[in-house]
Amino acid sequence: MRQAFDYLPPAGHPAGAEDVGRRVRVPFGNRELVGVVVAVAEPDPAAGELRAALQILDEAPLLAGELRHSLQWLAGYTHAPLGEVLATALPGSLRHGQPLPVRETWRWRLTEAGMTALDRLRAGSSPRRLAEALGREGLAEWQLDDLQPGWRSAARSLARRGFAERQAEQVAATVLPMQSGPPLNPEQTAAVAAIPGHGFAPILLEGVTGSGKTEVYLQAIAACLARGRQALVLVPEIGLTPQTLARFRARLGVEVHALHSGLADNERALTWAACLRGQARVIVGTRSAVFVPLPEAGLIVIDEEHDGSYKQLDGIRYHARDFALVRGKALQVPVILGSATPSLETLHNARTGRYAHLRLAERAGEAKAPSVRVVDVRKRALAAGLAPETLAVIATQLQAGGQVLVFKNRRGYAPVLLCHDCGWSAHCNRCDAPMTVHAAGRRLQCHHCGHRRPAPPACPDCGGLALQPQGVGTERLEELLADSFAQVPVLRIDRSTTQRKDALERHFATLGEGPGILVGTQILAKGHDLPLLTLVVVVGVDEGLFSADFRAGEKLAQLLIQVAGRAGRAARPGQVWLQTHHPGHPLLETLLSGGYRAFADAELIQRQAAGFPPFAHLAMIRAEARQLEHVQAFLRATRVALANVAQDLELHGPMPAPMPRRAGFQRMQLLLSAIQRPRLHAALQTALPAIEALPEARRVRWSLDVDPIDLY
Ligand code: ADP
Ligand code: ZN
Ligand code: ZN
Repeated sequence: MRQAFDYLPPAGHPAGAEDVGRRVRVPFGNRELVGVVVAVAEPDPAAGELRAALQILDEAPLLAGELRHSLQWLAGYTHAPLGEVLATALPGSLRHGQPLPVRETWRWRLTEAGMTALDRLRAGSSPRRLAEALGREGLAEWQLDDLQPGWRSAARSLARRGFAERQAEQVAATVLPMQSGPPLNPEQTAAVAAIPGHGFAPILLEGVTGSGKTEVYLQAIAACLARGRQALVLVPEIGLTPQTLARFRARLGVEVHALHSGLADNERALTWAACLRGQARVIVGTRSAVFVPLPEAGLIVIDEEHDGSYKQLDGIRYHARDFALVRGKALQVPVILGSATPSLETLHNARTGRYAHLRLAERAGEAKAPSVRVVDVRKRALAAGLAPETLAVIATQLQAGGQVLVFKNRRGYAPVLLCHDCGWSAHCNRCDAPMTVHAAGRRLQCHHCGHRRPAPPACPDCGGLALQPQGVGTERLEELLADSFAQVPVLRIDRSTTQRKDALERHFATLGEGPGILVGTQILAKGHDLPLLTLVVVVGVDEGLFSADFRAGEKLAQLLIQVAGRAGRAARPGQVWLQTHHPGHPLLETLLSGGYRAFADAELIQRQAAGFPPFAHLAMIRAEARQLEHVQAFLRATRVALANVAQDLELHGPMPAPMPRRAGFQRMQLLLSAIQRPRLHAALQTALPAIEALPEARRVRWSLDVDPIDLY
């Protein structure tokens, strides 16, 4: 709900400004709920009788200062209820009212004054015994619990006199040995020098794959730690590997706290609490880590800032990169956006001078940029999508002891099951989409709603037996490659084979140091450093060349550069073979002749001409229901409500969603576009209450997405 609710403070608790940000347990209807205090005010006599909150749950506010203000900003920007935003920001167990968990890493020790005064404390007294136990080295609280039950009052008495102090344990600083990195090259040195120690500074670090961006982050983080500040590093979902964490730990010499969706609720809450208390000095996490409290913030890094996983696609549709920039500004700390293929939004901001722009144009160390070769596969006989010369080069690389990555952005055996006699093809009966063939043709699966069924033995329409898988997915490639290169390991890596947490690591371990083949989807585009990888084969990207989505070209260019960047990251030179039916496509030509930079230049000109981001600002209202009429009626009424309040807003639709039916729901959308961002927000702000009150709104599921990244 959009509104806040008024309560009296719990009996005997005088409410004050210091309650803002604390959680409370309150009666709500005939239930009890957990809430967060967002304001304290004098009761309004006109409001009538108020119920009293039952209990204040926190000693100190959980959502205080900068984080609370930034979340408030986010609620305004996404036009979402503040309650939902706060609930999104809090780990589950805190949202449900569990106490803020304690990590037992506080340490008490004697001060210099305490050391001198030790003898003057009454022999045998509780403070004296505690002081003797503590000494200058000190003890952790959990150790004191065992050693001297009831030690806390003695500790307070020592602290009052300045004889003892309590400190957050800098666990890692004292425990872990530190490794030094390679000496930086001049470009890296210049980049590190350009990152200021404090104050808000948005910085694009544009560095080709393998140019040593991570080394630059590590140096900036080390400097941040040396200043006694916290560093937050956001990484894409597929980038948060044990390899990455180990590298950070070894190099920084402190505990590195990982935060990602794979953690249990209590683990997330522990890390969140450690951030709030300032115990966590380095936090590396995926999208939702952008919500951790950073009372001593010093630096924010967003690795692979162009990555799509930073955008949340349901609930509060926030963009972690954009929210990180908002927080960096509020916290007055530098924000580094790193990428080999920056998003066009970020590039535009760098070019117009809003962000500083640092470049790493060369690969670090010995590695050289890979060479790229385009294979025209028109009219060619293909085996599971591979041309004969592609198979030949794979064989050559394997013989030379190299590893090969075969990339195809489609999992399953084949995208379509077709009857060669009558033209029937297997469709999901809940979605308007073909079902993907899995398990070498035995099983069908809908990649949109998850529905599975066995493949029919004969055509359901004509009874014929000529059912044929059409096209190529990773399973089919794996089958062919395992047959053709039986002497080396062939490993398939896609969402079907990496369900388990450690699956990727185990795959890479199997591959080892010898020749072998990896077949996979974009999961392979980033994450693991494979020094023996000398050849990358890209099997067809043609679907992406003709998509209606205005961002399709950008996504494809990024994917190609990222996948190609996996080749030749160490001393061995790398090659990229790109198979296509459209060797003359402008996107490929520009990318191959001028690189990502040339592509981005051309694309920005087109975006400007067409009035798309970053030159315009978009919002999408999506709606779905079982009956199409309900969806249409709601979006038409919504369009009227918006048109009534804003003249300079462009409204497109209602139009069918790119997938007009999914899991049995009819889906349509309304796209809003404005040249001035404030206009867009003003219109939404004014019109949303009317839209929510529409009778048509009760018959559909609908959502608002500000800055949509996918137009579906
Ligand atoms: P990026 O993050 O830009 O992809 P990394 O920081 O992971 O690049 O560096 C790629 C590889 O190059 C790593 O193996 C890293 O250890 C190495 N490397 C980075 N900087 C240097 C340097 N100055 N000298 C030698 N090797 C380096
Ligand atoms: Zn048939
Ligand atoms: Zn389906």
